[in-house]
Amino acid sequence: MSAQVSTTVQIPKTQKVAIVATSGAKVHVKDHPVKSPEDLAPGECLLKLHCTGVCHTDLHAAMGDWPVKPKTPLIGGHEGVGEIVAIGKNTPNSPVKLGQRVGVKWIADSCFDCEQCRKGHEQNCANVKLSGYTVDGTFSQYLVSYVHSVTPIPDALESEAAASILCAGLTVYRALKYSETSPGDWVVIPGAGGGLGHLAVQYAKYMGRRVIAIDAGEEKRKLCKALGADVWIDFTTSTDTVSDIKKATGGLGAHAAVVTAASSSGYTQAIDYLRPNGRLMAVGMPGEAKLDASIFFVVFKSITIHGSYVGNRQDAIEAVEIAASGAVKCHFQTKKLSDIATVYEELKKGEIAGRVVLSMD
Ligand SMILES: [Zn+2]
Ligand SMILES: [Zn+2]
Repeated sequence: MSAQVSTTVQIPKTQKVAIVATSGAKVHVKDHPVKSPEDLAPGECLLKLHCTGVCHTDLHAAMGDWPVKPKTPLIGGHEGVGEIVAIGKNTPNSPVKLGQRVGVKWIADSCFDCEQCRKGHEQNCANVKLSGYTVDGTFSQYLVSYVHSVTPIPDALESEAAASILCAGLTVYRALKYSETSPGDWVVIPGAGGGLGHLAVQYAKYMGRRVIAIDAGEEKRKLCKALGADVWIDFTTSTDTVSDIKKATGGLGAHAAVVTAASSSGYTQAIDYLRPNGRLMAVGMPGEAKLDASIFFVVFKSITIHGSYVGNRQDAIEAVEIAASGAVKCHFQTKKLSDIATVYEELKKGEIAGRVVLSMD
C-alpha cells in the first residue's frame, strides 16, 4: 500500500517555518525541508497548514522555561488547522481522508497502548508526542501529523476560528466537563475576560451552568455580560470577593471553579468560596507557584482539587463541534507567520488582548 498523495496540491520541497535554534534564542522565519510523502511512516500524514494560534505555552517552550525541556532546534506551535495532502504508506483504515480539514493540538500523538491511553487519558501517556515541544509544531507551512490523533474540523467552523479552540477551548471545555456540576449550578471563572476565560464563560453557558465572572475593568465587564455571565465581580473594586460570591449564591458558595490563573491566590481563594463538595478545577500552569490550601477546610468541606490538563481526542472533537454550532466564538486577531517575533515580544509584555492566529499564506 503506497503513500496517498493529493492531486490538487503541489507539495513543495521547502517551506517557511518559524524556528528557535536553542532555548532562549530569538525566533527566525526561514526555509526548511518538507518531508516527502514517500518518507511518511505508516500512520503519519502531511498537512498543508492554513493557520495556527499562538499560545503562552509557545513562549515558555521557546524560552525553555519549564522543568521538562523542549527539543531544539524547535519549531513551536500547537493550535494548527490545515488540510491533509498526503497519508503515509501502509496506513490501513485511516479515520481521516486526503483533502480533509483537520486540527493539530498540544497532544500530537500518543501510544494508545499504555494504561493511561487505554483509560482515555492520552495526555498522560508516557510516550506522548507534544506539538511544538517534543515534535515539530504548527509554525510551519507543512507539518507531519498523525491520522489517529488529528481533530476533524466541521465545515461550519472556519480554520481561524478553530485554531484556539484546539488548545484554550479544549482545555476549559474539559475542565467544565469534569467539574461534576449540573445545569443550574454555579461556576466561578476568575480571569473570565481573558483568552481562556472568555471561552470558559461560553462553554459554561452552553452547558446550562450559571457563571460568576471575575476580572477587572469596564471592557471585560461588557465582554463577560455579552457572553452571558450571570454575575460580574470586579476584583479591583470588590472589597471581599469571597463574600460577594457567597452572596450571589444564596450564602452557600459556588459548586465549582475553573481557575486558569498563573498565581497561587486564585487557587487558594477557591477553597473559601466553594460550597461543600465543590470542585476546584486547576487549569493554569504556573512554573513556580505552590498551591497553599487549607487542608482542614479541604477535608471539612469535602472539596475536590482536580488538575485538568488539556484533553483527549474525544474532548477535542466535542469542543470543536460545540464551537461549530455557533455557541462558542473565540476572540482573536489575525497576523502572518512572519510577524511571530513581534507577537512573542507583545506576549512577553502582556500586550495582547484575546488570542493571535497566524495565517500561513
Ligand atoms: Zn496553547
Ligand atoms: Zn500511551
